[in-house]
Amino acid sequence: MFKNIKNIDKIVYGVGSFSQLEEILAPKRDENNKYFVFVVDDFFKGKSLEKQIPTKDKDIVKFIHTSKDEPKTEQIDQLRDEIIDSQGLPSGVVGIGGGSAMDIAKALAVMFGQEGSSTLYQGLDLAKNPGVYHVGIPTISGTGAECSTTAVLTGPEKKLGIKCEYTPFDQLILDPELTMSVPKDHWFYTGMDCYIHCIESSTGRLYNTFSKAYGDEALRLCREVYLGKNSGQTKENAEKLMVASLFGGLSLSYSEVGICHALSYGLSYVFGTRHGYANCLAFNVLEDYYSDGYKEFKEMLETHNIELPEGLSKEWTEEQITKMAEISYALSHMWDHAIGTDWQEKVDLEMIKDLFRRM
Ligand code: NAD
Ligand code: ZN
Repeated sequence: MFKNIKNIDKIVYGVGSFSQLEEILAPKRDENNKYFVFVVDDFFKGKSLEKQIPTKDKDIVKFIHTSKDEPKTEQIDQLRDEIIDSQGLPSGVVGIGGGSAMDIAKALAVMFGQEGSSTLYQGLDLAKNPGVYHVGIPTISGTGAECSTTAVLTGPEKKLGIKCEYTPFDQLILDPELTMSVPKDHWFYTGMDCYIHCIESSTGRLYNTFSKAYGDEALRLCREVYLGKNSGQTKENAEKLMVASLFGGLSLSYSEVGICHALSYGLSYVFGTRHGYANCLAFNVLEDYYSDGYKEFKEMLETHNIELPEGLSKEWTEEQITKMAEISYALSHMWDHAIGTDWQEKVDLEMIKDLFRRM
């Protein structure tokens, strides 16, 4: 069976394109109870971008705090219930922020169409009703959350996405200028998420010409941004990284991530480690599996003076290491892609625990 993927309907790309948001929302304002919900990363509270959000009287702006925790099922359920109780069904949701805000906006838009808790919809094609119209405006490049068919949520039992045909955005506004304020370490870690997507996508059994076409271009752009002669956090590189992020995500949508993401999910689940950073910690112990990518990753770390901590696992309990290994092991589709259909003969909890102990 070949995947039948849902893509984004419309994309605007370019420096300053955020200014088109008002015009884009106008024709949708008659839908449902005629108001929009803006889910905005609270980094932008009080910044000039806040004043440029084209709100009308009934619109709701929710600033969300993303620097500590990744999006949670409980948070989505609360937001949906509170908004529906106060004003009924909105015309749509606009997410402005990094991967966290993208996922919150996607999950919220889907959940406006479903009954009960979002934990019931973590998985593939579990949501049966359309949600509401939703627009994504990323302000950090790398995760590919802007184009992925999943909204990753951490619930009481698992970190797993709501993945269904209603999840992807109806509209993207890709304005590289919005990413210029990202602190250097985040710029590096989240950009590495894109780089690692391409490496993992290209080294597993699901890799194919579609994934390669997008992945090759995303890798080329990542190399220019992180290793090129004008590497660094420049405006030109912001334009490149935004396209790399999108293409890396598209490459993945027709392939799969691998061992690094399996380990990274374990770290995020147990310690709440941010996705891009968790990927860097994991990739740093995966020389045996991704040797070429690993060498290039080390070069990128060195070029940008990023030092990853060592000996982290000394502080971890056996129970925490076991839990992370169990979370990782359960991500069978990632191991299957990376190692092969017989992965269970080659991978066990002890082996995964050993990888965590190297961190
Ligand atoms: P993020 O959204 O978690 O934000 C990281 C930090 O950057 C926050 O403190 C935020 O306030 C700040 N920030 C955001 N934009 C900024 C800007 N322009 N200037 C300054 N600071 C800014 O970061 P992320 O790395 O983009 O996303 C990680 C999240 O994405 C995780 O929750 C992860 O699960 C999710 N993710 C989803 C997918 C998917 O396919 N759906 C893929 C990968 C990751
Ligand atoms: Zn990722």
